Amino acid sequence: MPRAPRVDRLAAGGAVHRALEEVFDRCDRAARVKTDPVEFVHRYAHAPLDAELVALVASSVAFGNVTALRAKLADALERLGPSLTRAADDEPAVRRKLRGWVHRVYTGDDLAGLLVGARRVQRAHGSLGAALGGALRDTEGDLREALARFVDAIRREGKLDQRAGRGARHLLPDPRGASGCKRLLLLLRWMVRGPDGVDLGLWRAQVDPAQLLVPVDVHIHKLAKNLGLTRRAGTSFRTTVEITDALRRFDARDPTRFDFALCHLGMAGRCPSKRDPVRCEGCGVLPVCRHWAPRGAG
Ligand code: SF4
Repeated sequence: MPRAPRVDRLAAGGAVHRALEEVFDRCDRAARVKTDPVEFVHRYAHAPLDAELVALVASSVAFGNVTALRAKLADALERLGPSLTRAADDEPAVRRKLRGWVHRVYTGDDLAGLLVGARRVQRAHGSLGAALGGALRDTEGDLREALARFVDAIRREGKLDQRAGRGARHLLPDPRGASGCKRLLLLLRWMVRGPDGVDLGLWRAQVDPAQLLVPVDVHIHKLAKNLGLTRRAGTSFRTTVEITDALRRFDARDPTRFDFALCHLGMAGRCPSKRDPVRCEGCGVLPVCRHWAPRGAG
């Protein structure tokens, strides 16, 4: 049975940092990548324009069970053939190839619109990374507004707003709204951080990793609350900023560095968010989890 740790109020920040570094060090990232959607992006790393289209597709539909998601991604990519850029240049063909493909609320036609729109933005700017970099310059480094303009361009070029059904509208969130934009921020983490075997660093010249925000899903939100990184309910943009600001204190130049390891800790789905000796056994952040802090500690 895990033993309750002694938490010193003043040392709590340092203790959380140490626990995160330990979770980071103990995460077998090479093995974990093989079970993660980012693995599909690595398959195209030799062809950066294809890789950024794969990353956009994989992150945009990253909902629900990861095994089911990976199977759907594998199916879509097999239908599209070895080059996504070539496939997306031929709109009628890409729609035909993806006909019948479905994942959650997304249809093959939604995905085709996303690909065609992204490919047109690629052709106009040279790459999606260049398009985002240009938007960042135009907004004087305002990542949220730059992302919103990036999304506007893909939606417009892919006519996503003109499509019936929820899927097309849901594929790319509006960063100007309250949404935490987890899937867009996941795309940024993959493309900006690294290369480190997990993230690919293909947009590093356009975006500074220090600007990134943590992609907050329900698992990361739960862990962040348990570690005292936020008290906010819900996975809104404000929660995302608050969690990232807390992590910035541990690594200002790379605040999303811990995300992959924490995400896989959360994906194990064991966290009961209460003191549970069986399910908490072996949890890497137990020493700093609020559920295990002695009463009255930080
Ligand atoms: S110690 Fe238990 S409650 Fe706390 S984060 Fe880990 S699994 Fe969740």
